[in-house]
Amino acid sequence: MTGPATPVRDTMRASVLVRPRELEIQERPVPVPGPGEVLVRVGSVGICGSDTHFYMDGRLGRFVVEEPIVLGHECGGTIVGVGEGVAAERVGERVAIEPQRLDFTGELAREGYYNLDPSVEFFAAPPIDGAFQEYVTVPHFFAHPVPDSLDDDAAALIEPLSVALHAVRKARVTGGSRVLVAGAGPIGIMLTQVSRAFGATEVIVSDIDASRRERALTLGATDVVDATGDVASLGLGVDVFIDASGATPAVVSGINNVRPEGHVVLVGLGATEMPLPVVDIMNSEITLTGVYRYRNTWPAAIALAADGRITVDRFVTARFGLDQVAEAFEASTRPDSLKVVVRPGE
Ligand code: ZN
Repeated sequence: MTGPATPVRDTMRASVLVRPRELEIQERPVPVPGPGEVLVRVGSVGICGSDTHFYMDGRLGRFVVEEPIVLGHECGGTIVGVGEGVAAERVGERVAIEPQRLDFTGELAREGYYNLDPSVEFFAAPPIDGAFQEYVTVPHFFAHPVPDSLDDDAAALIEPLSVALHAVRKARVTGGSRVLVAGAGPIGIMLTQVSRAFGATEVIVSDIDASRRERALTLGATDVVDATGDVASLGLGVDVFIDASGATPAVVSGINNVRPEGHVVLVGLGATEMPLPVVDIMNSEITLTGVYRYRNTWPAAIALAADGRITVDRFVTARFGLDQVAEAFEASTRPDSLKVVVRPGE
């Protein structure tokens, strides 16, 4: 390791999930950045729905927690050390972390579809440790500089914003688009704001909770729909439907509201299989796809947040220290919570 800012201590505090719903603070060695890597002092980590699944149930989709693991993958901080081959001038740079490692030797990665490359090691996807700890290492090209107008919480929120940006790109949202978003959680609201930034003139958000619908209207939705009602027969005829709920009824009724030649993107993770109105999809030539994380989104997401088009500062509803991660998970499940962050240095 080179660079002037060697961490003061050799060990750091890490919040480790030892079994579902059981966290413990462990003293661990500060990781050493390998060739091409940077060492980042973590300033802020957002709690994601996937972290909550691992915390509560010990599993999510094909990933199962079998060994103790450090959760958290939405993170920002400051570079405090660099590995071989990385410019020492980067020490002191504030960054938003794209939370993964991969070697770019695989065909998909070389083609630019690096999120789909099976060699990806992703933060907090078992068995890879995440960011609920004081320091992490990451490839230098996945530590993206952020301007000082974005604080560490905002830098952390570039990760969920990237999910929304990737989905809105795939949905072909453009000037004048009419968009329906199902689910008014953090991803649903980010999808709303990114769609508006891409020129959508109408973004209708559906949710089962009245207070979440109200909040969506203050954060960019042009209209809201009660998802407990008969959404399927609303006849909205939108250009784009994006699901951020993972709920089968929301997906089916959303597709029913898409105009011919429209686009549907599935973002929310729910049932692994669900019945879909395939004849409607065929007869209306609807394009339906999903998203798996993101690729090539960070610089644009940072620019959108810095520009104020995405109000990242309005997403954080609670902040906790590293020894309060259990409380942070608890807070993140409350209906009035939007984004809860953990600040490992506090
Ligand atoms: Zn996330």
